[in-house]
Amino acid sequence: MTDESFELKVVDVVEETTDAYSISFEVPPGAEEQFAYKPGQFLTLAVPSDRTGVAARCYSLSSSPGDGGPLTITVKRTADGYASNWLCDHVREGDTVRMLPPSGIFTPASLDADLLLFAGGSGITPVMSITRTALRQGGGRIVLFYANRDERSVIFAPELSRLAAEHPDRLQVVHWLESVQGLPTQEQLKAFASAYATYDAFVCGPAPFMKLAVAALKELEFPRGRRHQEKFISLGGNPFGDLHDQEVAEHEIEDAEHDPDDADEALLGVEGDRPQGPVKLEVELDGEQYVFDDWAPGTKLLEHLESKGVKAPYSCREGECSACAVRLLEGEVKMLHNDVLDDEDIAEGIRLGCQAVPVTDTVKVTYH
Ligand SMILES: Cc1cc2nc3c(=O)[nH]c(=O)nc-3n(C[C@H](O)[C@H](O)[C@H](O)COP(=O)(O)OP(=O)(O)OC[C@H]3O[C@@H](n4cnc5c(N)ncnc54)[C@H](O)[C@@H]3O)c2cc1C
Repeated sequence: MTDESFELKVVDVVEETTDAYSISFEVPPGAEEQFAYKPGQFLTLAVPSDRTGVAARCYSLSSSPGDGGPLTITVKRTADGYASNWLCDHVREGDTVRMLPPSGIFTPASLDADLLLFAGGSGITPVMSITRTALRQGGGRIVLFYANRDERSVIFAPELSRLAAEHPDRLQVVHWLESVQGLPTQEQLKAFASAYATYDAFVCGPAPFMKLAVAALKELEFPRGRRHQEKFISLGGNPFGDLHDQEVAEHEIEDAEHDPDDADEALLGVEGDRPQGPVKLEVELDGEQYVFDDWAPGTKLLEHLESKGVKAPYSCREGECSACAVRLLEGEVKMLHNDVLDDEDIAEGIRLGCQAVPVTDTVKVTYH
């Protein structure tokens, strides 16, 4: 496994609410290309831990690319959480933090599209980046439904008011406070979204909120291509390239294939046999076409591409974050682990590159 982590210097820390902090980082000279990002993408931080060495956690960028400012994440304390509290309590201007470059697919295909944004609590972070960027660089309308526990927990409230006042024809922000209106129901979310049925929808927030919002969008028959969601989960593994994880990764396929219970559970996506010999692989990535004829059947797509020197995107390497998502154009793969794609994603041909092993003799994929 390669470790492509960087040490970034903290240039600012801002208390947004009593339990949320924005932390800004300076990109080191020479790493500008690696740290170029799209609105809605996230960084993966190596949070120091006496217990495990590192606790790897993803944090969405709330800043907007191309505004000339530093890269900013916004971290909200999780009750009894380890990394979020460590970051809020310990990180100060002048410190350095180790991290992986931006990745993720929770990003609008076009900044000119009309956007329907649902954010709950800290789920505002990637949504804020999308809002800031679309207002500056795009031309569509933006409607934000923003749910919070109470007024004091609304992150970015003053800036959202300012942006809505500056762009009355383009941005509408609807605040939903649990303290005032109770938790939103699926019916209420559906009634709200029904006025924007042609918009591109983005949903991020606590799991129950996301479940309701996505169900409402499905009821309104938003097609999968216009329904995006970002799940905020804590990574179970460590993508920072330590030896232990590498050994685990190397034995994972073997274990899955030899333990029938694990194999039933782990080989997700499709049924199929393992090809007998090397597989022909075609990959579209960043406008380049790659063709290989020696993809070994037990090797994961991401690992094969890395062995060829291809810089394919990834973050968690555990099937938990979707930074490595590809779309199948031909052939089939199995995923050894998948915590993030739903049945509809799989039916649409989306697969996780970090977990995909081939099941057909030819496979063609494209990265978004
Ligand atoms: C794509 C993505 C984007 C995200 N964006 C954001 C964002 O913008 N803002 C935000 O606030 N959150 C975001 N998250 C969520 C974030 O990554 C974390 O899940 C969240 O901050 C909770 O992490 P935590 O460690 O505080 O809590 P938990 O993960 O709940 O902490 C408990 C876990 O930490 C372990 N633990 C306890 N003590 C230690 C120790 N000493 N050393 C090591 N491990 C320990 C425990 O075993 C347990 O597994 C995002 C997640 C994803 C996947």
